[in-house]
Amino acid sequence: MKIRILGSAPGKPVSGKNHACIWCLTHDRNILFDCGEGASQQLLKYKLDKDKIDSIIISHMHPDHISGIYQVLLMFKLNERKSELQIFLPEQEDEFAKTLEMFYLFKQILPFKIQIKNIQDLDLNYLIPLKNDHLHKYKKLVKEQDLKNKMLSYSFIITEKDKKMIYTSDVNTLDFVKNNLGEGDLVILDSVHPIYEELEQNIKDHRFRFIINHGLSDAMKKLLPLISRERYDFADEEKEIQL
Ligand SMILES: [Zn+2]
Repeated sequence: MKIRILGSAPGKPVSGKNHACIWCLTHDRNILFDCGEGASQQLLKYKLDKDKIDSIIISHMHPDHISGIYQVLLMFKLNERKSELQIFLPEQEDEFAKTLEMFYLFKQILPFKIQIKNIQDLDLNYLIPLKNDHLHKYKKLVKEQDLKNKMLSYSFIITEKDKKMIYTSDVNTLDFVKNNLGEGDLVILDSVHPIYEELEQNIKDHRFRFIINHGLSDAMKKLLPLISRERYDFADEEKEIQL
C-alpha cells in the first residue's frame, strides 16, 4: 500500500498547506479520501490529474473535506479523462449531483462517466467505513430547523496483506475506531478535535503508530512530549509512505 497525504491542513487555513486529501494506492486501485481545496494542484504535481484516480471518497460534508472536488472534476474534464469515476458520499448524493449542474459540470459534456454513490455502497472487502461522531454536535440545530443533513461522518480502515492503515478523518472521540487499533497499525490521526483525555488513554492503551494530521491542538502539543518519538510523525505533503 502506498499513501500520500496531499492535504493536511485543518478547517482554519494554514499557509503553505492544502486541505484534507489522502491518496492511497491499494489493491491496484487509486483512491482519494476527501478532496479539500488544493487537491487539483496536488493531483497535478503527482501526475494523478487525468485517468489514474478510480474513486473519491468523502468522509463528511465539511467544506475543508469536499470543496476541492469541483475543481478536480473540471481538471479531469479539461484533461479529457476517459475512465469512469466513482464518488462516494456520506449523505445527500442527489443534492450533490444537482450542484454539479450548478457549476456547469453537466454529465452530458463530461468526457467521462461519474457514478455518485453512498459510502454504504462501497463494496471492497479491504476498505471498511466506520461511522464516527464528528457531526453529532449539530443534532439540536438540524432537528429544530428540520434540515436534511444526516450528520454522517466516517473514518476508514484499509487493509492490505498484514498491513493496516486507519484514516480517522475528523473525530471527536476515538470510540469508533479504537476497537480496531492494533500494534503497528498506521493511523492518520485528526490531531485537532479529539478530547485530550480520551486521546491520551488510547495512545497509552493501543500500540499504533500515528501521523499527526489536520493541525495540532494545544492539548495534543502537551501530549507529545509524553510519547516515544518513534511512534509518530508529522503530516508531510511531500512524502510518500509505503506500508
Ligand atoms: Zn470536519
